[in-house]
Amino acid sequence: MFPWKQTLAAAFAALALAGCTGVGTPGGSNVVVLDIGHCVESPGAHAPGTPSLEECRFWYKYSYDVKREIERAGYRCTVCNRGNGTGLDAELATHARRAGVVHLHRPGQGGERYPSRYHPDRVGSGVVSADYAIYRRAAAAVFLHHNSSGGRTTGASPSIIICNRHNGRPLANAIAASLNADILNHGMPNGGRACSVQVRYVDADRSASWMNACDDSGIPAAVVEAAFLNNTGHAAFLANDANARRYARAIGRGIVNYLRHPAPRHVRQDENRADEGSFGYAAESRRITVPGAKVLRR
Ligand SMILES: [Zn+2]
Repeated sequence: MFPWKQTLAAAFAALALAGCTGVGTPGGSNVVVLDIGHCVESPGAHAPGTPSLEECRFWYKYSYDVKREIERAGYRCTVCNRGNGTGLDAELATHARRAGVVHLHRPGQGGERYPSRYHPDRVGSGVVSADYAIYRRAAAAVFLHHNSSGGRTTGASPSIIICNRHNGRPLANAIAASLNADILNHGMPNGGRACSVQVRYVDADRSASWMNACDDSGIPAAVVEAAFLNNTGHAAFLANDANARRYARAIGRGIVNYLRHPAPRHVRQDENRADEGSFGYAAESRRITVPGAKVLRR
């Protein structure tokens, strides 16, 4: 739409092409890509009655604490966000500069779905962040979110770390273990319930496309959905600055624990076939009517 946007898109495309030989090469770098979920234009869930405590704003403020934990352990880390970065207020702009947030200029407002640049049968909203992780040949991609299940609740919430099928379990296990050791029921009340890991891969669109696209390129990926903003205990904990930083650092430590013991990588072998053994995926892919999406025939 705007000339500068076209220039940026062209630059991204050129970089993507230049990086093509590395795609599918696992362990291409030791950089961790952190993605701030949603974007300021469409900021995600917020705590009931506390509009300032919302997903996107929280992670603009605290992704730096995750990043710092990773860098202190000797790894590289880049923070990205799918938005334009132009609607940030002064406070968030300061946090964005500190974290060095890379804006990918594809906010995808209104639930716009589009195919992955690298694996075009993977269709979803926000898949540009997975593409960025692939372009960077990330050692791990972690999508920073919070969860919500509606109106106010107390006690236990079903805290989860979502991950990709082939590569993500050790990463997700490490993040969940760190949160269980130091945060959940240790300051952030959760009725004694632990954070668990959920593998997500079957749906051919929606958020699993982030997971699938990363999996295809051999990148472990995890979505952090451990805190429920509608849980009053979680919200009260995260509204405190020191607690929020504790929460972010615990995620960082989990990622570092994974990086110290990385698992062998699985890379998709045939881009014309559904992910091996992924029941029903090809049939679902044939129902997608998104421009540019690749439909699997078998
Ligand atoms: Zn979210």
